[in-house]
Amino acid sequence: MCVFFSGCSKCFKEFPRASFGEKPDFSGFDRDSWEPRSNSDHRAAADKVRQAKTPSDAQRFASLSGARYSVLFQLPYYDAIRFALIDPMHNLLLGTAKHVLKTWIEKGILSESDLQKLQKRVNLVKPPSEIGRIPKKISDGFKGFTADQWKNWVCIYSLFALKGVIPNEHYGMWTAFVHACQLLCRKVITKEECQEADQKLMRFCTMFEALCGKEKCTPNMHLHGHLQDCILDYGPVFSFWCFSFERYNGIMGDYHTNNVNIGKYMYSILVKYIANCGTLKLYCLALLPTTANNLQTLYNVCTFIH
Ligand SMILES: [Zn+2]
Repeated sequence: MCVFFSGCSKCFKEFPRASFGEKPDFSGFDRDSWEPRSNSDHRAAADKVRQAKTPSDAQRFASLSGARYSVLFQLPYYDAIRFALIDPMHNLLLGTAKHVLKTWIEKGILSESDLQKLQKRVNLVKPPSEIGRIPKKISDGFKGFTADQWKNWVCIYSLFALKGVIPNEHYGMWTAFVHACQLLCRKVITKEECQEADQKLMRFCTMFEALCGKEKCTPNMHLHGHLQDCILDYGPVFSFWCFSFERYNGIMGDYHTNNVNIGKYMYSILVKYIANCGTLKLYCLALLPTTANNLQTLYNVCTFIH
């Protein structure tokens, strides 16, 4: 029995799977056939879920429509479809770039000796100081790469390193992906460049399906088809991708808490941050309650100032 499920927050495309528990088939990049979701329909469906008479009815409506009620719907300007963003860092770099490498290794397109060859080629490159070097992890199968290292690998090193190592058709497919990422990872992007990147991403997805098989296609590849809309709504990826947020994960992760509540340390980090805010410092010091011992107070002070 073939089961369909609609798992995209932007459109109603259904992804078939052989039975429950099986991996769905995420292939199919004919975007004209993807019926887009609309805010009004989504709100109506979520309202139906909220007003369901029994929990089982609510569950049934929710799984049919993919909508659930949220208190955010009380905001008249809230658009449930356009306000749900695709993060390009996870989507392109930690998602597809990583997946393609893994697929090549699984399919034997990249062997152990090929990885050593890539490492040697990358080691030859002496990049300018603003571009980070890639650590010697390629020969270990790219283990432990950070998102920034994936970005450098994709946009700077990979086309040079992979030339002649992988078959031409795979190199052509990867070139389309790299060119799309090079366009998208700019701080300034025009509508035309965004459109070009979108076309290259869709070409990459179609070629990947043909070369690596439907079963290797991922939800991230489907979401590439919606990335252009996010950029047209929110601007260059630098304005909304997760790099800046995740940088703070690193800072907080390195913080020695001695198993004590992280909130207390976040408070002291915020105080240090405010102390470094130059002219804002005076305002902050004046407003910061001397006995402020909770984050909410500090948060209110910070948001008031900004
Ligand atoms: Zn979709």
